[in-house]
Amino acid sequence: LINILLLLLPAAIFAQGGKLNTVTEKKIDKLLASMTIQEKVGQMTQIAVESLLKTTSGHLVEPNELDLEKLTRCIKTYKVGSILNIGDRAQTIENWRQRIATIQQMALSERLKIPVLYGIDAIHGNNYTLNAVMFPQQIAQAATFNRELVKKGAAITAYETRASFIPWTFSPVLDLGRRPQWPRIYETFGEDPYLVSELGKAMVTGYQGNDAAIDKYHIAACLKHYMGYSMPLSGHDRTPAWIPERELREYFLPSFATAVKAGAKTVMVNSAEINGVPVHINKHILTDILKNELQFKGFALSDWQDIQFLYQRHHVAKDDKEAVMMAINAGIDMSMVPVDYTFCDDLVALVKEHKVTMARIDDAVRRILRVKIELGLFEDPIVSANNYPEFGSVVHQKANDEITAECITLLKNQNNLLPLTTGKKILVTGPAANSMRALNGGWSRKWQGDNSNETEQDKNTIYKAIQNVFGTANVDYAEGSRFTEQTDLGTTISKAKNADVIILCLGENSYAETPGNINDLTLPTAQIELATALKATGKPIVLILTEGRPRIVSAIEPYCEAVIQAYLPGNSGGNVLAGVLAGKINPSGKLPYTYPRYPNSLHNYYRKYTEELSIDVNAGYNPQWEFGYGLSYTSFKYSNLKLSRNKLTGDKPINITVDITNTGNYTGKEAVLLFVSDLVASITPEVKRLRGFEKISLDPGETKTVTFIIAASQLSFINNNLKRVTEPGDFMLSVGGLKTGFTYLPINKN
Ligand code: BGC
Repeated sequence: LINILLLLLPAAIFAQGGKLNTVTEKKIDKLLASMTIQEKVGQMTQIAVESLLKTTSGHLVEPNELDLEKLTRCIKTYKVGSILNIGDRAQTIENWRQRIATIQQMALSERLKIPVLYGIDAIHGNNYTLNAVMFPQQIAQAATFNRELVKKGAAITAYETRASFIPWTFSPVLDLGRRPQWPRIYETFGEDPYLVSELGKAMVTGYQGNDAAIDKYHIAACLKHYMGYSMPLSGHDRTPAWIPERELREYFLPSFATAVKAGAKTVMVNSAEINGVPVHINKHILTDILKNELQFKGFALSDWQDIQFLYQRHHVAKDDKEAVMMAINAGIDMSMVPVDYTFCDDLVALVKEHKVTMARIDDAVRRILRVKIELGLFEDPIVSANNYPEFGSVVHQKANDEITAECITLLKNQNNLLPLTTGKKILVTGPAANSMRALNGGWSRKWQGDNSNETEQDKNTIYKAIQNVFGTANVDYAEGSRFTEQTDLGTTISKAKNADVIILCLGENSYAETPGNINDLTLPTAQIELATALKATGKPIVLILTEGRPRIVSAIEPYCEAVIQAYLPGNSGGNVLAGVLAGKINPSGKLPYTYPRYPNSLHNYYRKYTEELSIDVNAGYNPQWEFGYGLSYTSFKYSNLKLSRNKLTGDKPINITVDITNTGNYTGKEAVLLFVSDLVASITPEVKRLRGFEKISLDPGETKTVTFIIAASQLSFINNNLKRVTEPGDFMLSVGGLKTGFTYLPINKN
């Protein structure tokens, strides 16, 4: 009887959180009741597929074939429940299908027939399957300010990932991109908590669909890197951050909370430490906040080898075994990449020694099995290849073009140099001009990015695409410089002298994670020198930036007539940029971060008043370009900003309406951004915060009215007692340069 009661206990506890499916929970009860410790611990283990592949004299065998002996040890001896890709190289879809079918067949031949959960970093499209669509990186998608497009891209990614028989992606990144040096800024939706929350939710629903049960065209999302990962003091990846709990809750938690509420199935944990404690052992963050407060029902996955790193790098555990104990007891449910099987042996021993309770193990395994059931893996572990005729299709490529078009952000267009008139002689130059790798960034067919071997006709570098659009005879090319070193400047300059306009493509070569660390945010000297030499020709320069993070360009911006921020626009980037130059595409992206002017004066747009230039005359807020900045080939006029009432009360939201008119000659899209300022508050208020955005399309002469609804809860903040409050008082709101005020009263006295 005691055993039965103990078995029922976890289900009863979860049921209080609501929304659990009783059939699913019963199935889990039954499985848990028949599992050995070894089988349970196996479910909590994730192995890198690299350690399961055939090698001859230390080298992988092409095409990456599974080594059945190694797979047998993994699945039959250690009962491992999850496998992940190694970000080494892309595979054909056939290889993926074969690989995963072999794995699942072996898993299903086991006593309990529990399918393996295979996970992959499909972070901007299904980037590890050849011929899959590669969308713009998240930072570029953020510039669209368009929830529907982000959702659409994620749905296609889900389809193409599932078509490869993979049901789980380690995406989206919901860290705030606030630290411009940090090499993973491009994997984020930028610096604003509201923008990150809204687009994160859109991406999660795009991946997973709208139901708790995920169908064969969708995949499970993984929110990462929970939380506070993006604020390393040094700017370098995986180094310490200092974030008080108030700031964690105010800025870093909301994106995760929103996505958990939207039903996200899994969470990956921050590799680094906050306030001296590695997040992998932070029970408060992992259990109290994530599982209890947010009522997260999925499972928490460690990041790469991070349980071992508690011992090897962080020095908070005296050996591997103690590290396992600390992490599992803090609330980690699955360990990514035990490099060998000591994790399994250690955890089994820890349970036997009563250092980890069986209840904790059961909770972790229940969460993992729940995701496997919700993914339909028990019924249909490898679906059927016939279901996916649209893999890499023209329809999917077109959707990519559409999304990419809305990312491109025009930052400067002096004397309306753009769009370029026809018949001009164009020189395309710079290290990013003829490189697919520079367009796609990291996590593109390879971990550090490099899809330069792709030969598909429709994928063009910027140079090739400009040739296609403006005609081969009009377009010349010279490399100019490499990303960090000078090449043949002389040839480039003489070609520039023969051109009417120079398209200068600068930025960064691809990188991912720690290898992408830098010590200087300024664009490398070789590129600055190239720009300076080109300036001397007197020819107009259009600067196109393809970069994962905003590199300082203040030295060269003044003499570039036009500047286009392309971020890392993906496989359609070249074609879309050529379309923008030719005026076939009207840019509508807006910066999702503050573009700094100086490497050592870094601010966010939601700065405090003490950061203003008027107070700190030497180093106040003075960015190169502001968050939300972006131009169009047409012009928009904002008028009639109206509030339904100028008193907001606790129970009644205010409607805000504003008219936007296209006063120019091009059809254009405009992201309408609503900012609110709390004028006086008990915690120093930010100068302004984004509280709403809508993307609209307007024909020349057309006017549309956009409505925002502001409730008291949207003006709340975390106070010094860690309570979310809205304090009574005066607020100012601004939309497109128009401003008006209103007052918040907690109780309606009318
Ligand atoms: C990264 C994660 C990624 C994981 C698996 C880690 O190094 O931090 O973002 O999902 O590797 O590739």
